[in-house]
Amino acid sequence: MEFLAPTTWADALAAKQEYPDAVPLTGGTDVMVEINFDRHRPPALLDLTGVRELREWSRDGDVVRLGAGVTYTQVIEQLGDVLPGLAMASRAVGSPQIRNRGTVGGNLGAASPAGDSHPPLLAGGAEVELASVRGTRTVAIDEFYTGVKQHAGRPDELISAILVRTPRGPQQFSKIGTRNAMVISVSAFGIALHPDEKRVGTGIGSAAPTPRRAAEAEAFLSSALEEAGLWESRLTLPDGLAKEFGERVKLAASPIDDVRGTAQYRLHSLAVMARRTLSWAWADYAGGTS
Ligand SMILES: Cc1cc2nc3c(=O)[nH]c(=O)nc-3n(C[C@H](O)[C@H](O)[C@H](O)COP(=O)(O)OP(=O)(O)OC[C@H]3O[C@@H](n4cnc5c(N)ncnc54)[C@H](O)[C@@H]3O)c2cc1C
Repeated sequence: MEFLAPTTWADALAAKQEYPDAVPLTGGTDVMVEINFDRHRPPALLDLTGVRELREWSRDGDVVRLGAGVTYTQVIEQLGDVLPGLAMASRAVGSPQIRNRGTVGGNLGAASPAGDSHPPLLAGGAEVELASVRGTRTVAIDEFYTGVKQHAGRPDELISAILVRTPRGPQQFSKIGTRNAMVISVSAFGIALHPDEKRVGTGIGSAAPTPRRAAEAEAFLSSALEEAGLWESRLTLPDGLAKEFGERVKLAASPIDDVRGTAQYRLHSLAVMARRTLSWAWADYAGGTS
């Protein structure tokens, strides 16, 4: 196996062009499991841990640019109040060791439907920055996931960064697992209220072939809030609205039965999490804390 270890971003992109089959490695918490269990033996590994700029984040106005190598621990410790939804999801990932090594870029590279960063990134309307020697392009997060563990990156491209808008309203994340820690989601849900656009964002995890939005539920809730003047009044949600929202989120999912849970349980838990996260987010909004 070839082992490529560039120390600059330009060299990393050149290596990916020369070896398009090379598997990038950022934190290695997915890649090394695959190799150790002999599930996958790539012809080449492209170790990105020496590329310093990938581990950096920056802020330009209301957009945070997270380098693909920013770890969950960095998100939790440095961006907890700037990207609250992503920080909540990051706290739910693995163990301290996994959060110290594992990255948001690696979660996107793996594109597993169970990845915990996907629901908040979908709800927040993030963009993924993809780079190659040919140049850089951005892909809207809801167009990034193209199939089970597949994404829109081309063979000569690397994920360089994730662009996330700072929130205008509350964000919440919830995950169901078979225990409280060190667990891959049975199902997960993220919500973001965007009062400036009178819009609701959502993200479903582990309940479809790819992470996805519940677009119809978003439209339903956004217009119900607008018709009742609730974006301005911040009054209590009408009876049944959160439950109806949960039922509509459920309709957007298409889960399977697997070792972690049944499709039926995934649908049920998704509706419950959607109802609860909306209630928590609305309590923050009504209380004026977000
Ligand atoms: C014990 C354990 C517990 C875990 N718990 C959770 C959990 O609770 N929630 C969760 O979501 N995940 C969990 N994971 C999975 C893993 O930690 C996450 O998916 C993590 O985000 C992967 O990041 P990484 O930097 O380690 O990725 P890597 O292993 O380095 O890479 C992951 C994938 O992304 C690709 N890749 C990496 N960097 C790039 C790049 N710059 N451009 C293009 N492709 C790239 C790799 O080729 C690979 O396909 C767990 C893993 C373990 C071992």
